[in-house]
Amino acid sequence: MQGKIIKGIAGFYYVYVRGRGIYECKARGAFRKKKIKPVAGDAVEIEITDPVDAEGNIVSIAERRSLLIRPAVANVDQALVIFAARKPMPNFNLLDRFLVMMEQAEIPTTILFNKVDLVDREEIERIRRIYAASAYPIHFMSAKENLGLDEIRRQLSNRTTTVAGPSGVGKSSLINRLQSATRMQTAGISVKLGRGRHTTRHSELIPLEGEPSAVEGCLNTGGKGEAEPSGGTGDPAGRFRVNRHFIEDEARVLEEDSPEMICEEIRGRYQGARGFIVDTPGFSSLYVPDFEKEDLAFYFPEFLPYMNACRFQPCTHTHEPQCAVRKALDRGKISQSRYDSYLQMYEELSERRRY
Ligand code: GDP
Ligand code: ZN
Repeated sequence: MQGKIIKGIAGFYYVYVRGRGIYECKARGAFRKKKIKPVAGDAVEIEITDPVDAEGNIVSIAERRSLLIRPAVANVDQALVIFAARKPMPNFNLLDRFLVMMEQAEIPTTILFNKVDLVDREEIERIRRIYAASAYPIHFMSAKENLGLDEIRRQLSNRTTTVAGPSGVGKSSLINRLQSATRMQTAGISVKLGRGRHTTRHSELIPLEGEPSAVEGCLNTGGKGEAEPSGGTGDPAGRFRVNRHFIEDEARVLEEDSPEMICEEIRGRYQGARGFIVDTPGFSSLYVPDFEKEDLAFYFPEFLPYMNACRFQPCTHTHEPQCAVRKALDRGKISQSRYDSYLQMYEELSERRRY
């Protein structure tokens, strides 16, 4: 059976199988010898060892499309980096460092500015202009006033997104609004909540709300035999429906429970979440990753159209005469803020090479 690791804790991996729910798995011996440690986001093949308790073994890991470290998460499709338009004031240099990191990791990034309720239109336009030439998608929202969230939901739908940003910008507020109200449940009969308490931070894939993540209709065992909408967390358009025979089979197993409990059980277990977010710890500084300073300009997408036209090749775009990048800066094609970040990171990379 194919699934996706949504969380790993102390040697146990919680594997989400679409349409079934979550299995608690161990990495099987033979596979562990290869010394590849499964991480959240990994696409895995599992064998079920105990269908009642929803336990199994991971037998193989699919090749990773990407791997982020700290926190470790595989197969992220994109990053969402969130800053506040005010309180705290945006640190554009920090944002640009993050963007360079993601360019190097080849992870497409969307920029999000929260707390737009605290600034006027001009300020929003000023921020927008800084990034216009870079072509990163940029969104503005207010978690407080519930503005701009639909745009974000569209951006996140059907993908696995890592959400990052400095602390205090409203990341938790955003994630609270986006995540599915229905917690993911085990595929087994007995509901497990993970093994004991854990204090260490683990990456975890959080299912998004608004995905067809919960079953709309739930079995009514009160005699009518009809699936009734349960409201709230489901798919209002009814695009996603569970095979009713499947539910009825399960209901028989659960017949000692009350209809409400059966409803909750089934609703929780048959989920079709596709979009996930991964919360990452807030950061206050970022080191430019280790690469040659000559490569830095390639991580500023808006520099690319000009770089070939520089008089000197290679050009560092810091002081050379007839530098096309600096000309573009003078003509306002590249923003001063972005160029300043480039210079600062370039300096840092130059310093580092001296040791
Ligand atoms: P985190 O540290 O990034 O997770 O930020 P939180 O979600 O904890 O929010 C930090 C503070 O900003 C809290 O006091 C929130 O109430 C506040 N906050 C979050 N979103 C908004 C917003 O859109 N507008 C305003 N004015 N305040 C917000
Ligand atoms: Zn140049």
